[in-house]
Amino acid sequence: MKNNKVKIGYKEYEIVKKEEIIEVKGDYYGKTETDEEVITIANKFSQKVQNQTFLHELLHCIASKYDLAVNQDEHTIELLSVGLYEAILDNPHIFTMKDI
Ligand SMILES: [Zn+2]
Repeated sequence: MKNNKVKIGYKEYEIVKKEEIIEVKGDYYGKTETDEEVITIANKFSQKVQNQTFLHELLHCIASKYDLAVNQDEHTIELLSVGLYEAILDNPHIFTMKDI
């Protein structure tokens, strides 16, 4: 897997960084095109904002894969991605423990 791609099920999303994100209601930091298999992230923001945006778009990809209704619910996707990112930042040891 190339490091500018992320595999979600049978789809391989290309991750593209751009200064500005145009269009998409409620999404100014990133967007996901599930048919085209492209995730675009606005790179004019800090690295942490870009990381959180990536998780937000990743949740859209997963919700799309399972056809979950939450995919249309920007507020819930945003809260879940912020919560997930905060948990990752606050608990870096969880991914390095051998037993889990
Ligand atoms: Zn969104």
